[in-house]
Amino acid sequence: MRCLAGIVIVHAARAVLSCIVITLATSAPIRADPAPRLRLTDPRLRLAVAAGRQQSPLFRTLTNQLEATDVVVYVQCARLPGHLAGDLSFMTAAAGVRYVLVRIGWDLPLPRKIAILGHELQHALEVARSPDIVSARTMAAAYERFGFVKSRGPERTEFDTLAAVDAGATIWRELAEWDDGE
Ligand SMILES: [Zn+2]
Repeated sequence: MRCLAGIVIVHAARAVLSCIVITLATSAPIRADPAPRLRLTDPRLRLAVAAGRQQSPLFRTLTNQLEATDVVVYVQCARLPGHLAGDLSFMTAAAGVRYVLVRIGWDLPLPRKIAILGHELQHALEVARSPDIVSARTMAAAYERFGFVKSRGPERTEFDTLAAVDAGATIWRELAEWDDGE
């Protein structure tokens, strides 16, 4: 494994991660974020979070629950390969705080961005509820236990959970229902 980002959780397809996640782990948070545990590295993501919290009760619940954890989630828009919509990777643990990186496909329509982000926030809560996760390796071990493998390769193993899939689907439905009510 070349760097901490060797093991990730994703929706689909393979991706190559670089060690830039280590740099992001040490970058300063954006102070204006309403939810300090959720740190948006791209101002365009503010719209997704604001709309998600407004229109989806589950998205709002997930972001609220994150605030009570020791997990900080950096979120960035990224050009993801193939049909990969988003992923989460473990960055580092320091001073009682665990840091993960969520990447969301930059070109997704807004409702899709929100649903994918909600899916990844469910993963962040799974990390939060698993104190044994303190590295990419221990995260992989935990997901071997409570998740399922989507693909296994020499440099990268991809996991998912039914809870995250369900969260994304529920948020997607709530967004649609909110639109219908307008
Ligand atoms: Zn997932």
